[in-house]
Amino acid sequence: MGIRTGAQYREGLRDGRTVYVNGDVVSDVTEYPAFKGIITTMAGLYDAQHDERYLDVLSYVSATTGERVSTTLMPARTAEEMNARLRCEYLRTDLTYGLMGRIPDFVNAFVLDSAESLAYMGKHEAAAKVREYLEFLRANDLATTHALIDPQSDRSKPDAPQEALQIVHETPEGITVRGARMLSTLAPVAEEIVVGPFVPRRPGEEKFALVFAIPANTPGLKIVCREPYDTGSGEFDQPLTSRFEEGDAILIFDDVFVPRDRVFVGGDLDAYNGLLPNFPGYTGLQSAVRGTAKLRFLTGLAGVVAQANGRTKSPRHQEEIGELVGYVGVAEGLLQGAALDCARQIQARERRQAGETLTPQPGEPLQDTPIGLSATMVFFPHVLARAVDVVPMVAGSGVIAMTEKDFNNPELTGLLERFMHGPDFPAERRLQVMRMAWDATGGQFGSRQALYERLYSGDPVGNRLRFFGMPKRSECEDLVLRLLTS
Ligand SMILES: Cc1cc2nc3c(=O)[nH]c(=O)nc-3n(C[C@H](O)[C@H](O)[C@H](O)COP(=O)(O)OP(=O)(O)OC[C@H]3O[C@@H](n4cnc5c(N)ncnc54)[C@H](O)[C@@H]3O)c2cc1C
Repeated sequence: MGIRTGAQYREGLRDGRTVYVNGDVVSDVTEYPAFKGIITTMAGLYDAQHDERYLDVLSYVSATTGERVSTTLMPARTAEEMNARLRCEYLRTDLTYGLMGRIPDFVNAFVLDSAESLAYMGKHEAAAKVREYLEFLRANDLATTHALIDPQSDRSKPDAPQEALQIVHETPEGITVRGARMLSTLAPVAEEIVVGPFVPRRPGEEKFALVFAIPANTPGLKIVCREPYDTGSGEFDQPLTSRFEEGDAILIFDDVFVPRDRVFVGGDLDAYNGLLPNFPGYTGLQSAVRGTAKLRFLTGLAGVVAQANGRTKSPRHQEEIGELVGYVGVAEGLLQGAALDCARQIQARERRQAGETLTPQPGEPLQDTPIGLSATMVFFPHVLARAVDVVPMVAGSGVIAMTEKDFNNPELTGLLERFMHGPDFPAERRLQVMRMAWDATGGQFGSRQALYERLYSGDPVGNRLRFFGMPKRSECEDLVLRLLTS
């Protein structure tokens, strides 16, 4: 089939999946009011693939099937190919303003990374299954998401909790799994769920060492959603929630059968624990692209809010917005670096596997820098939190803004037009801007987005400790020792 349309995506969601929202079973997610916005946004991305302007960026012709398939699923080896991926991810996150953390591009990159990682570790059978799965995703253009985290039943111990997803039965045909995973963003409107590693498993925990993929409508899978934030008040009042509310869900696997060809890792601790550390960088690149799109949006929002309140000449606000513009420059610059780095990693592995010894030459860094990972785990959480801080501080009390219904009340329209405008900024437009600022940073959607940016790539403290343990630190320290002893 290859690339689908928005209508085909919508139809695909009518698959009999088991979704709970606010205690009720939702029999057809496409008809559920709070999911309509995100489904329309996702459908728009599918339709964009058929737009003449975007066709060659968002899709390519598969060498295996001759069909046009999504560039988000394209394996890349050369800098040129990686750049094609970068353009596609940039365009898709630009179309969604970086506000969809789990745009399927993320998991598609995760699956591509997984195939490379498993092959690099010598897990060739598992790598071959992941590659087959990638072919399946390309052929069917399915919306993917994932769940990596164990339930928080007891975080005082490093062990896998008994509530965590585990194998309870095994046959030559496949495995039956039971337990829970959290937190799966996009799950109510995704079509494929990828389960992968996060916390390392220890000897004796083989039954918890699972990497697999299943359709969202697999019998026994219960998608238990948090309450939706879209109140149905419309695009004026909730301009972002009404379009980009992806939904988050706990996934309960109530004895779910996974066929053998979709069990990528089932008990192999080395493969499970080594999967993420051996990613060459597709996922980091996509995260950096998405973070950049969101930073651009929030920077623009701070600027438009300043215009709406006549703050553009205030040095304090110029300084704060200028800082964000500077971060945008760094973010856009590092994207090329992250793309090149990912291609370089893949090529270096091939050369090492061919027996070549790679020695850094004078003028080259001694240790590789995982650029996408550094951006995702250190840079973006910091700069996006800063942007979320700047927007309401530029806006002041303006973010506590009236609704569209207030504005349209004939008794109020004239008064609000008279008293609620900005300099060269009509009241209606100013209220719209302020509602957007609140939606982005203050309301339920904005608060959840802020938490997402801090946590989605893992415990932020743990992430920094990981960087502390990297050989790059010794490379930096050796500089100082060299000077001390010279
Ligand atoms: C909005 C949102 C969406 C998400 N979407 C997804 C998704 O789509 N897929 C997915 O797989 N996951 C998703 N996640 C989960 C995310 O990966 C986790 O939140 C993250 O890895 C942290 O794990 P945790 O939530 O279990 O928190 P915990 O690990 O319990 O951490 C809670 C707090 O304790 C701190 N902490 C952790 N360990 C220690 C320690 N040893 N000592 C001291 N403090 C510690 C952390 O810094 C944090 O502040 C999402 C999370 C959020 C908030």
